[in-house]
Amino acid sequence: MTTPPTPVDVQKRYNLPSDVRFCIRCTMSNQRPRISFGEDGVCSACQFSDHKKKVIDWDVRDKELRELLDKHRKHDGSYDVVVPVSGGKDGSFVAHQLKYHYGMHPLTVTWSPLLYTDIGRANLHNFIQSGFDNILGTANGKVSRLMTRLAFEHIGDPFQPFIYGQANFPLRMAVQHKIPLIMYGENGEVEYGGDMKNAFRPTRDIEDHDRHYFSGLPPEFWKEYGVTDADLEAYLPPNGDDVRANKTEIHFMGYYKHWDPQENFYYCTRNTGFAPNPERTEGTYSKYASLDDRIDGFHYWLGYLKFGIGRTTSDTAHEIRDGKITREEGVALVRKFDGEFPKRYFKDFLEYCDITEEQFWAFSNRWRSPHLWEQRDGEWVLKFAVS
Ligand SMILES: [Zn+2]
Repeated sequence: MTTPPTPVDVQKRYNLPSDVRFCIRCTMSNQRPRISFGEDGVCSACQFSDHKKKVIDWDVRDKELRELLDKHRKHDGSYDVVVPVSGGKDGSFVAHQLKYHYGMHPLTVTWSPLLYTDIGRANLHNFIQSGFDNILGTANGKVSRLMTRLAFEHIGDPFQPFIYGQANFPLRMAVQHKIPLIMYGENGEVEYGGDMKNAFRPTRDIEDHDRHYFSGLPPEFWKEYGVTDADLEAYLPPNGDDVRANKTEIHFMGYYKHWDPQENFYYCTRNTGFAPNPERTEGTYSKYASLDDRIDGFHYWLGYLKFGIGRTTSDTAHEIRDGKITREEGVALVRKFDGEFPKRYFKDFLEYCDITEEQFWAFSNRWRSPHLWEQRDGEWVLKFAVS
């Protein structure tokens, strides 16, 4: 640790409204960065969910998908689409559909978690066994640890180095293998609340990478803290000219097919050997999302400190929209599990980042914004709750 922890103006940094409001339809609050609310109190993700149910003709979208795939399909045995996968339910669903339903030849690519869980490794293995070629990208372990610690210390998100690789590695592989089409799962900004710019089109601008995924801090930012060019190589996007020369297109399957994470889970247990977590994931009630990395619980937990939005809020919000649970059930689940500390991997986290428990708390608590948090009898409590 190089700098003493000073409080951060979280509200200003993320442009958060002072008055906390909750969507009247789901459990999401207006503290999610880039989300918007209508006059009627309905959040942009719920508005989009209505649009999906009532307006979109999925037969027309399927036709659009077939046209896109026909344009890219190869007949000489070479790969014709890059699919980023973790072995989890979403990427596996996309890859399996493209290969077995639409007759494509995907190259699946995986950016390695920082600290694999056993279940994460097993799921990727099972996915590959279900009939896919895969390239696993793994960054230098020493550099990963350093970057994770720096990101935890300076931006309150230890997961940032993983996010660089997750966004940039598929692009690098597409350029390197001369495959123009990359197919992602859902557009998180649109499905879960955020920038709606891409809600009504299937593609994503490469330029949005930085804004949406990197909190405005590209990998080069860390050079200031002693990370070298050589260290950063694995995290960088390919050269822009090469991306354009490859005619690279990034598409979202969620634009073409009705996106339902729980249905993807059922699909992958049947088709790609996907197994849920034997234990409930800390901070939420679900067993099938984000299981691969021992570090990512801290990413969600720090998000809870910054925005008052934990994993249960996010999980219940989309399950309410998908008609899996009622709002009332969602509220009860939030009250029970939201913000639960990820203690199962706490020791691993401290060791990985090479910090003490004391340093951990000092650097975490600086992200508790006074408009969301207060101390009562020496305990941190949120000033508001969904009801
Ligand atoms: Zn909502």
